[in-house]
Amino acid sequence: YFISFEGGDGVGKSTQLRLLRDWLAEVTGRDVVLTREPGGTELGAVLRRAILHGDDMDPRTEALLYAADRAHHVASLIRPALERGAVVLTDRYLDSSLAYQAVGRGLGDDSVEVVNRWAVQDLMPDATVLLDLDPVVAARRRTSTPDRLERAGDEFHRRTREAFLSRAAAEPDRWIVIDADGDVDDLQAQIRVALAARLDL
Ligand code: C5P
Repeated sequence: YFISFEGGDGVGKSTQLRLLRDWLAEVTGRDVVLTREPGGTELGAVLRRAILHGDDMDPRTEALLYAADRAHHVASLIRPALERGAVVLTDRYLDSSLAYQAVGRGLGDDSVEVVNRWAVQDLMPDATVLLDLDPVVAARRRTSTPDRLERAGDEFHRRTREAFLSRAAAEPDRWIVIDADGDVDDLQAQIRVALAARLDL
């Protein structure tokens, strides 16, 4: 299985993913690989630093760096893991680029989707979990120092949230939408029930 998690900053993706990893290993008996974008590989870490801590950059440059990170991530880590029978969990995938670069940065869906589909050679997740939360609530929860992109305005975060929700509504067979305004254990329970039903675990 290939499962991605999406949602804004500070919605609790990484906490939920860590909890899910242990459970998936137990119920599937398989190796579970937990990874993330940007920065899931060695080259990806270099790209992540360039994207998040570099100077302000042209939106196309940013989009191509994310796509480059993703192409390498799929080719060197995700696809080989799936081929040896592992379950792959990723913190963000292609849908993040459709929300942040296509809608947030205003590049438009079509070109960003074409570039990214090409980058991943059409490898799409079996299930995508959207942790949906009002960006104002999410910002209040965050404890770390915001990076360049996290400092983007409220309007940017509102637009990307809407973009995730509309992608989820357009493709209900792939997406699982969870209201992330709840406590950690309760959210984890909801995610497990939904994934078990969806993936027949
Ligand atoms: O999820 P994570 O904290 O790793 O994301 C780092 C930053 O990159 C966040 O501010 C997120 O909003 C942004 N991002 C983005 N476009 C992507 C992926 C992440 O703007 N495709």
